[in-house]
Amino acid sequence: MVELPDKRTAFVDWYLAVVEEANLSDKRYGVKGMNVWTPYGFRARRNLDRILVREIEATGSEPVEFPTLIPATEFAKEKEHIQGFDAQVFWVTKGGLSELDVPLVLRPTSETAIYPVFALWVRSHRDLPLNVYQIVSTFRYETKTTRPFVRVREIHFFEEHTCQLDDDAATARVRSNLGAFRAIAGALGLPYLALRRPEWDKFAGAHYSIAFDAPVGGARTLQLGSVHHYRDNFAKPYGIVYEAPDGTQRHPHQTTFGLSERLLGAVVAVHGDAKGAVFPSSVAPYEVVIVPIPSPDEDGGTARLARTLAERLEHHGRRAFLDGGDERPGAKYYRWELRGVPLRLEVGRREAAAGAVTAVDRLGRKASLPIADLEDGVAARLADFDRALTERAGAAFRASFLPAATLAELAGSDQVRSLGWCGEEACGHAIEQAIDGALLGTPEDPVPWLPGSPPACIACGSTSPVRWAFAAQPM
Ligand code: ZN
Repeated sequence: MVELPDKRTAFVDWYLAVVEEANLSDKRYGVKGMNVWTPYGFRARRNLDRILVREIEATGSEPVEFPTLIPATEFAKEKEHIQGFDAQVFWVTKGGLSELDVPLVLRPTSETAIYPVFALWVRSHRDLPLNVYQIVSTFRYETKTTRPFVRVREIHFFEEHTCQLDDDAATARVRSNLGAFRAIAGALGLPYLALRRPEWDKFAGAHYSIAFDAPVGGARTLQLGSVHHYRDNFAKPYGIVYEAPDGTQRHPHQTTFGLSERLLGAVVAVHGDAKGAVFPSSVAPYEVVIVPIPSPDEDGGTARLARTLAERLEHHGRRAFLDGGDERPGAKYYRWELRGVPLRLEVGRREAAAGAVTAVDRLGRKASLPIADLEDGVAARLADFDRALTERAGAAFRASFLPAATLAELAGSDQVRSLGWCGEEACGHAIEQAIDGALLGTPEDPVPWLPGSPPACIACGSTSPVRWAFAAQPM
């Protein structure tokens, strides 16, 4: 038995311990920040990827895969972009024993790999919109302390890149991405804010950036992903041009949508508790674990029944795991609670004789499920568990915020703060200094639980124009 650190008072230690003890990632690889996906962690990642693929393809995006290496000449074409990234990239400078004429970059993100090819693919307005996505490894030379899933040097990355007819069409694509993210976060039971980042914190090369932030305890937030409107900032230097119906040559307006393994980090951080990880059934490596409880004087009937039930559930499309080892049931309960399996079925002789098994969900709620229609019973328990987990996360989310009226209130804050902001950069920096963190930005859509009219700017007192904004300490 391991003693997990307290989530509330020692959040980061708790997070690291849960990832390790739940066996989701092995950080003992020889390169810092490049972690090994264990079988258990990989299963969760594969389930997450299925959700991403389902939701993005529902909006008309197609899968592609571009190469990992980018010529330095292409990488340097968009000035702001290269300035934002060049301190963070890994370089390949040798091929065999010779120096390369043109050094190569290990992609930190793929704009500069994809857009030279978009320039070949896009010819006419009939080629638009062009919506493609890939799920690949990207690489960043991270110098800060790395943390599994949250800050790593090799990132399991989802990126959509699009070309649209014009500014309005690109805005519509951004809205479509916001909808896709709502569905993805819904499947994970993760509440979040969609915030337009301040000018000084937008993606390098973007016209504007919208990021998704989830509170993860105290004043801490985790950025779950982002959507960017590029206008023609990249299309111009990369020569992406199409012929409009009137025969004129125009640059498309572009968007990107980026997500990563951080979503798994968020699932651990948001749903996890004093007993360990808690997975919603959508991404759980196993949805159900079956634990036989043999009696001393029986002839293996309990084990046989447990195996039959596991086979029935798998046949029904459930990810089920039969834990038939010779440990005591209590040790198995403990392990699978630590690893966050949504539902445990206890198969004992007494229950079997009564034609039922005991189901215990990861929130500790018990039910007796008739063996005759076990498939339906398990489906109902999992749906109910997902609902309850989402509600628990929602309640914690709503309790994460506290309005602030003065800069002094931000110092040492142990909650995410909502406040009025006039939009001026100087006021923004004053807010960031006061909370010793970041001004996350302004809500993209009205937040139902905030009063409609925001208070005066917390820094300068201006009342016009002023908007709601959030300040926090990003994890
Ligand atoms: Zn102000």
